[in-house]
Amino acid sequence: MAQIIDGKALAAQVLARTAADVAEIVAAGGDAPGLAVILVGNDPASEVYVGRKIAQCRKAGIRSIEHRLAADTPQEVVLGLIDKLNADPKIHGILVQLPLPRHIDAALVLDRIDPGKDVDGFHPVNVGRLSTGTGGLVPCTPLGVMMLLDSVIEDYRGLNVVVIGKSNIVGKPVSMLLLEREATVTVTHIETKDLPDVARKADVIVAAAGAPHLVRGYWVKPGAVVIDVGITRVVDHDGNTKIVGDCATHELEHAKAVTPVPGGVGPMTIACLLSNTVTAAKRAAVA
Ligand code: NAD
Repeated sequence: MAQIIDGKALAAQVLARTAADVAEIVAAGGDAPGLAVILVGNDPASEVYVGRKIAQCRKAGIRSIEHRLAADTPQEVVLGLIDKLNADPKIHGILVQLPLPRHIDAALVLDRIDPGKDVDGFHPVNVGRLSTGTGGLVPCTPLGVMMLLDSVIEDYRGLNVVVIGKSNIVGKPVSMLLLEREATVTVTHIETKDLPDVARKADVIVAAAGAPHLVRGYWVKPGAVVIDVGITRVVDHDGNTKIVGDCATHELEHAKAVTPVPGGVGPMTIACLLSNTVTAAKRAAVA
């Protein structure tokens, strides 16, 4: 049987470490790290994500400051708010919940965030730092993927890793992190030919396609490690909504280890957001 990598348990460890770091900063006379969360509009999924992030911040002792803006807020107002938050020394992290309404240029907004406060790791400076292996803030989901992998893999050198999906949020950054660890990384996507054959050569598969149960048992070689990043909401026969990953996990008994959906990558993403906020606060303190 494949080992199920428990993302909830690992996330709880990361959160506990983060809370301890916050307590240490405060005990030393510093300000509790502050995370500003900007939500424009009332997309229901975004509201849920923001609510979860803020609840976890509270548990870890991070001050979270919510900025809820109406869906028709002009772009200039959003940019002006980011300028104010950039200049506020009590704010260490700024998160703009995506997607933004159509009239707002998301790239322009993300580029406006001070790279030192960019806890999502989407600013071009942080993207550049990641690709040159020179520090910076790393996007939360790829950071969480690496922690999950680190719980079952000691040495990545020479391992064949197949990443499915080439998005800026998951596929590309996770590939960069794996390259830094000297894995041999193949990045695949919707146009990749013979994907099952490519996947079958992998020691590690990171599936981030958003395609339910794309990765079947016969795609996975015995003993491979499989990380399932995918989250797709589907309605079952009884009309209940459930979350489905990119992997047919029930067909992967021959794998060495797999992450479940839910309870794998998802909890790690929020935990890493909090840990990035503390990292940003610590760096600001010594800057
Ligand atoms: P995206 O839509 O930006 O990119 C998807 C990528 O997968 C693209 O490169 C596309 O070419 C590729 N792809 C799509 N279908 C494919 C197929 N059939 N075969 C091969 N490649 C295929 O998505 P994203 O933002 O990177 O997210 C990917 C998935 O991960 C989504 O399900 C998303 O909800 C999930 N996600 C989860 C977390 C988390 O915290 N667990 C965080 C971010 C994203």
